[in-house]
Amino acid sequence: MTTSQPKAVLITGASSGIGEATARRLAELGHRVLLGARRTKRLAALAEELRAEGASVSHHELDVTSLDSMRAFADAGLEAYGHIDVLINNAGVMPLSPIADLRIAEWEQMIDVNLRGVLHGIAAVLPQMQRQAAGHIVNVSSVSGHRVDPTAAVYSATKFAVAAVSEGLRQESRDIRVTVISPGFTQSELTHRGGSTQAQATARAAAEQLAIPASAIADAIAFAIDQPAHVDVNELIVRPTAQG
Ligand code: NDP
Repeated sequence: MTTSQPKAVLITGASSGIGEATARRLAELGHRVLLGARRTKRLAALAEELRAEGASVSHHELDVTSLDSMRAFADAGLEAYGHIDVLINNAGVMPLSPIADLRIAEWEQMIDVNLRGVLHGIAAVLPQMQRQAAGHIVNVSSVSGHRVDPTAAVYSATKFAVAAVSEGLRQESRDIRVTVISPGFTQSELTHRGGSTQAQATARAAAEQLAIPASAIADAIAFAIDQPAHVDVNELIVRPTAQG
């Protein structure tokens, strides 16, 4: 299937989970995609696989916690495509734990990746989108950006903050679209790293029981992107039917 209007799309955190699934979906629709993440071997393999199917896909090393790295990623997109139509700020981490555990390095990491990373993404593409008088920033938040649960306080705080930044950017923009996508339990590697053993095991068990495929989130992102320029889908929550 191809889309009527191929776009130049930059995806952060494209080495696994939702970012990878979104790259696959958008490439299949005919969009030109630049993949970013730290695990470049995975990006290279994915780009090669999608190119073999006829897609226009390239990759670039990216650490969203570094503004320089994010700017280099955006520059690579601009060099490859001549413009930037869409940035998908998807990279995220979720090392869950009770606040009383004081896993402060992981709090900092969540703030650095989930919030500062999104701000870096916006900073890296906004001037170009303003020059173009067009563009679309898609921020991947979470159901945890709408509610707070035990062990997810700091993670939720970063996702609530993403909602605030997105709404502010939306209000300040007249020709740049802003979308917040909030997934519920989704199959990915999100619970594989960090957090307290018990909290992560509980999240993994719930995910194993409930999680929807990452392609479901990719489809929602593709829907928002494929709307006409004057239609801004601001907010989508996509979660398993059985999630409480
Ligand atoms: P994954 O762990 O599978 O993917 C996370 C991605 O983020 C990876 O590609 C990883 O790449 C990237 N990443 C992490 N840190 C950095 C960094 N410093 N710089 C660049 N990239 C980074 O999890 P998901 O696919 O689930 O996560 C994607 C988004 O979806 C996140 O924002 C998450 O919060 C959100 N989400 C997920 C839900 C779920 O149930 N899965 C539910 C709600 C929201 P690498 O390590 O190679 O750098």
